[in-house]
Amino acid sequence: MSFNANKHNVGCGDTVLLYVGYDNMLPVVVEKGKTHQTKFGAVKHDDLIGKQFGTRLQCPRGWIYLLRPTPELWTLSLPHRTQILYTTDISMVIFQLDLRPGSIVAEAGTGSGSLSHAILRTIAPKGHLHTFEFHKERSEKAREEFHLHGHAQCVTVTHRDVCGEGFQLEHTVDAVFLDLPKPWECILSAKRAMKKQGGRICSFSPCIEQVQRTCEELSAKKFTDIVTMECLARHFNLQYAKLQNVSFKTIDETIDPQAEADSEPPVKKANVTPSSRDRRGDSDMHHFTSAVPAINMPGHTGFLTFATLTSNDVN
Ligand code: SAM
Repeated sequence: MSFNANKHNVGCGDTVLLYVGYDNMLPVVVEKGKTHQTKFGAVKHDDLIGKQFGTRLQCPRGWIYLLRPTPELWTLSLPHRTQILYTTDISMVIFQLDLRPGSIVAEAGTGSGSLSHAILRTIAPKGHLHTFEFHKERSEKAREEFHLHGHAQCVTVTHRDVCGEGFQLEHTVDAVFLDLPKPWECILSAKRAMKKQGGRICSFSPCIEQVQRTCEELSAKKFTDIVTMECLARHFNLQYAKLQNVSFKTIDETIDPQAEADSEPPVKKANVTPSSRDRRGDSDMHHFTSAVPAINMPGHTGFLTFATLTSNDVN
């Protein structure tokens, strides 16, 4: 099944995300006769076939939902083989690299394929992703998943050390993305991979020391517009509240004579007089909506460094 197809009903061989709870989502590939265990009890694959995506399914001890995979849901449920990029950073990468349908992209390393799935949705159906991974099993597993998810036409997975052997793509890509421990070692090769009209590059690194070395190398190789950013998603909880109406109608500012005598800087006194309504004990309340930052703010993942290569500096 293609992640990009707008399929309505679950079929044999499809990947379905079993939504058990907001922090519990299981990806399953539907096979006749198979059963999957969830905390709400067994889910028979035969019961999934033919059901509409989005259906709420009764299990022995609760409900689950059958969700159609998207890159965002895949990022939340994929089997982790490495650290991965999450949607907050991914959305900035796609936007800043100027990716669109038809773009040609080089990526290293593939890792668990979290970013790759989002790139593949963006560049389909005519673009291409060249993704490189020097860990053999990871590259094989990623290739398998891309095929299973219907991306075979749009992706080439290469098992290679891009720092040692380079991308070996001569002036073919619009953008390069690096998620490597030593990205500065393959900047020259990334530059050679870019189309004659130039393009954009992004490097993701958790440490500022890595960022500094990458920026130095980008600058040395004539990349311009070098910008490093950190994306932190902040959730706000909407609250409806009411407060006693306090009116600061008469504010009388006078100079404190004692403070003046002590030749200290003048101290201002504020006399706050309650409004007439407050004096009458009128309990008019002020209703308002506020946005309170949630305390579970996600922490640091890494820095994104973007840069541009102009056609004048491609060689
Ligand atoms: N961005 C990926 C994702 O969202 O799933 C995660 C990438 S993971 C953090 C980094 C990957 O780079 C690892 O799988 C590692 O094996 C690979 N890697 C490290 N150095 C490499 C190199 N020189 N050439 C190719 N792959 C490399």
